Amino acid sequence: MQTLTLDLCVVVPAHNEETNLPLLVNELSAALERAGIVFQVLFVDDGSRDHTADVIRRLAATHKHVRAIILSRNFGHQAAVSIGLRYARGRAVAVMDADLQDRPEDLVQLYRRYLEGADVVYAVRRSRPENIFKRSAYAVFYRLLTRLASVPIPVDSGDFCVMSAEFVTRLNQLPERLRFLRGLRAWIGGRQVSHPVDRDPRRTGKPQYTFSKLCRLAIDGFISFSYVPLRVASMLGFLISGLALIGIVVVLIWRVMGLLPKGAGVATIALSVLFIGGVQLLTLGVLGEYVGRIFDEVKGRPIAIVSEIVGEGESPDV
Ligand code: UDP
Ligand code: MG
Repeated sequence: MQTLTLDLCVVVPAHNEETNLPLLVNELSAALERAGIVFQVLFVDDGSRDHTADVIRRLAATHKHVRAIILSRNFGHQAAVSIGLRYARGRAVAVMDADLQDRPEDLVQLYRRYLEGADVVYAVRRSRPENIFKRSAYAVFYRLLTRLASVPIPVDSGDFCVMSAEFVTRLNQLPERLRFLRGLRAWIGGRQVSHPVDRDPRRTGKPQYTFSKLCRLAIDGFISFSYVPLRVASMLGFLISGLALIGIVVVLIWRVMGLLPKGAGVATIALSVLFIGGVQLLTLGVLGEYVGRIFDEVKGRPIAIVSEIVGEGESPDV
């Protein structure tokens, strides 16, 4: 059966990537065939509005090692990868971007290191082609996340990786809907090895991760793997109550000693009310972020809806 003969299944999420996919299939096939790896490419079309789905169908018709899943709308990168992982078959499974920022030669390297004995080999970005603003934002995010998260999520690791089939089964068994994959991957543990890579610029087209999608991913990462934002709320509560207590004592002493000036305090009261109000709204907002995600989990909807499967293969429940 195909599962036994397949060395590697490469899951590739794609959102509006019509121009990149033919290039990716050519370059990926060349690199993996040269290395003698029996592979399959599994595209996940994440609700593209261009001709990505048609390009995928054409590629699947002309290349026997291309399969695809078409989602019913745009569910987001992490959801698309998660669905791909559930449909992936083979002794090992890789995840890589569709825009050739992850190099096919690096995938071969990751796979070789995986064969040396590891459950997961993940790429760590040595360099990035993005502008200084985006690079600094990534740097701050990863360092904060590594400090705050309850599991050690490696700095500058992305989703580009090779995992064993057993590891992917474990990942698929995690029931949560909110899937911050690089965090879940770290949470599972096992033998995990990092491999440094350089990241190329996107080959064609515009980035599909908009600023708001990136922010959402960052907040998802924090909320899924850290209670620190909630603790900050209670710390602020303690701090402000402590300061207020000291303030009360000081004012009482002044009053007894007759040092309190007449009419003092209207501005102070107004400012402290505003300040406390602000802090309360902020902490409510933090709480809301958690509650919203709990609500999403409780609803128990599937991660995404598959509207079409291109190429042969079983259909697991998703
Ligand atoms: N992507 C996706 N769904 C989305 C946004 C992006 O499947 O809603 C895919 C995209 O096609 C690409 C990968 O996720 O294969 C990474 O996206 P992008 O290149 O825009 O992100 P960046 O490299 O800028 O972080
Ligand atoms: Mg990219």
